[in-house]
Amino acid sequence: MMDHLFRLIEPAQSWLFQTLVLPTMHGFGFMAFADDAYEATGLFVLGVSEVGLVYLLLRPIEALIPAEQWNGRGATRVDILYTLLYRSGALPLLFFLILSPLLNSVDIGLRALGYLPPNLEEWIPALEKAPLLAFFTYLALIDLAMYGFHRLQHRFGWWWALHAVHHSQQQMSLWTDDRNHVLDGLLESLWLAVVALLIGVPGEQFVAIVFLMKLVESLSHANVRFGFGAIGDRLLVSPRFHRIHHGIGVGHEGRAQGCNFATLFPPAWDILFGTANFERIYPATGIRDQLAGADYGTGFVDQQLKGVTRMWRAWHGAQPRSA
Ligand SMILES: [Zn+2]
Ligand SMILES: [Zn+2]
Repeated sequence: MMDHLFRLIEPAQSWLFQTLVLPTMHGFGFMAFADDAYEATGLFVLGVSEVGLVYLLLRPIEALIPAEQWNGRGATRVDILYTLLYRSGALPLLFFLILSPLLNSVDIGLRALGYLPPNLEEWIPALEKAPLLAFFTYLALIDLAMYGFHRLQHRFGWWWALHAVHHSQQQMSLWTDDRNHVLDGLLESLWLAVVALLIGVPGEQFVAIVFLMKLVESLSHANVRFGFGAIGDRLLVSPRFHRIHHGIGVGHEGRAQGCNFATLFPPAWDILFGTANFERIYPATGIRDQLAGADYGTGFVDQQLKGVTRMWRAWHGAQPRSA
């Protein structure tokens, strides 16, 4: 599967690399990084094609069977900017540059402690003959890590202050998945990279896992009125299931400060940890205090600044965990 994915994008990757990236790098004398740049070009092509594919598939369905009817889609526009910044690889590249010294020292530290990432195929020899099963094992482990990450985003007041950027969208659409505070995105990259180091996911499989997660996440945020049925909803996160996570009064309140935290597999995590809600409802999305006029910002910069301000206040005890 991974091979197919990479073979599919290779022509576009090498064309873009030869015609644009390589000459530019040559001009600036950065040829030492040509290999890294080739990989980054691949990730760019992969991310941008995924966004194109998602748009072509989901936009007509949003028009046909919307969960909510809107007068105009003005509020979705800022989410398009988030999507382009994240999925083109621009922000992930920035995060990588910021985090790589830290990750290198984590890597060196782990080795110094004698820690070697477990090789799944060595642990469970049967997996060696079943590459697809091995892939799904890594996928499930990463999905569990993301579930834990998401629980913490709702648990801590300062973290919720950032994650609220994601939840404050009242016109949730196929673009909303990437609407995340930049600091929140940085934390997610760090979390994913450390988990990948700990469990030793092979690089190509990691790329494929992220690709798959993003595909499901675009669908689960789409403004569409359907789930996957009583059984299907329990197998894979559906648009209805994730809409409840964004629902005012349901998705970020209560004992666990929310429900339906899973990215991919609700049965494994939300059901196991008692945070699943399978009601057949399509609640309005947003944060409860928005109904009372709370302003989370309209433009990108506004939302980022307001997020940092909320985080600062939460740290200094002025703003308890809103819910
Ligand atoms: Zn959330
Ligand atoms: Zn979401």
